[in-house]
Amino acid sequence: MFENLSDKLDRAFKVLKGQGTITEINVAETMKEIRKALLDADVNYKTAKSFTDDVKQKALGANVLTAVSPGQLLTKLMNDELAALMGGTTSELTLTASPTVILIAGLNGAGKTTFTGKLANFLKTQKNKKPLLVADDIYRPAAIDQLEVLGEQIGVPVYTNRESKDPIAIAKEGIAHAKQNGNNIVIIDTAGRLAIDEAMMVEIEQVKAAVNPHEILFVVDSMTGQDAVNTAKVFNDRLDFTGVVLTKLDGDTRGGAALSIKSVVNKPIKFIGTGEKMEAIDVFHPDRMASRILG
Ligand code: GDP
Repeated sequence: MFENLSDKLDRAFKVLKGQGTITEINVAETMKEIRKALLDADVNYKTAKSFTDDVKQKALGANVLTAVSPGQLLTKLMNDELAALMGGTTSELTLTASPTVILIAGLNGAGKTTFTGKLANFLKTQKNKKPLLVADDIYRPAAIDQLEVLGEQIGVPVYTNRESKDPIAIAKEGIAHAKQNGNNIVIIDTAGRLAIDEAMMVEIEQVKAAVNPHEILFVVDSMTGQDAVNTAKVFNDRLDFTGVVLTKLDGDTRGGAALSIKSVVNKPIKFIGTGEKMEAIDVFHPDRMASRILG
């Protein structure tokens, strides 16, 4: 994970660590290298610049130049700043309402349906909840089948209405079904949509308005780099989502999305997907991710 970015940051650090004495000039040079590494990893320019400016200022303020092990001190500073860039602390789901309604949104192929299953499994096995899944994709019968297969696999019921062509009605029916059957979580898997598809964006806005979800999770493929950040911005402008799910972090992916999304949309990353299996879900920990990026 993040080999690209880690390798580049590593190289940037080696420049610094290789110096016998550290001067203000080579701190500045290292920060320039780190900025380049971040840009190469698809971190957007503003984020990369303010990040390196911050680290530089803190490094000089923390007397890195006179520290016993300046490299270590700088690494620690970088770690803290990277974690802060990704939200600082873990951001949990708000699950107090019964039922808690969670709307899942994102582009086709981002990993929404897979994540819907994973989240239900996570809430069932780790949080002792009784979830209901709602198949709210009226365009692709295969998506309904896929959710039913996952539901069966994890032992979680799935509400479907294959006759209906009204996603708002299906979402409402799903919530009513949950209330009748004692499900305290409702996870609504919506149709994949292109951010530029106005009709589809209006549809999900309407579903949101009708069911007033407690959480709206935007699922995005971490392999898509800067596109992931741009898509997040469009969806957030329309939906004001409550959190991000970064999928496919098990692949040979770049770290840019994790680093920039929080600062661009100012919403926390709540979960990561690390594989195709139902267990391949992790709560997002900014500090752990920072350490991983730095290697
Ligand atoms: P949707 O169209 O957004 O509902 O996407 P799907 O849930 O159908 O996922 C699209 C593809 O990505 C499927 O082949 C999934 O198995 C795969 N996938 C989803 N999440 C992950 C992940 O975290 N890691 C990997 N490697 N594959 C994933």
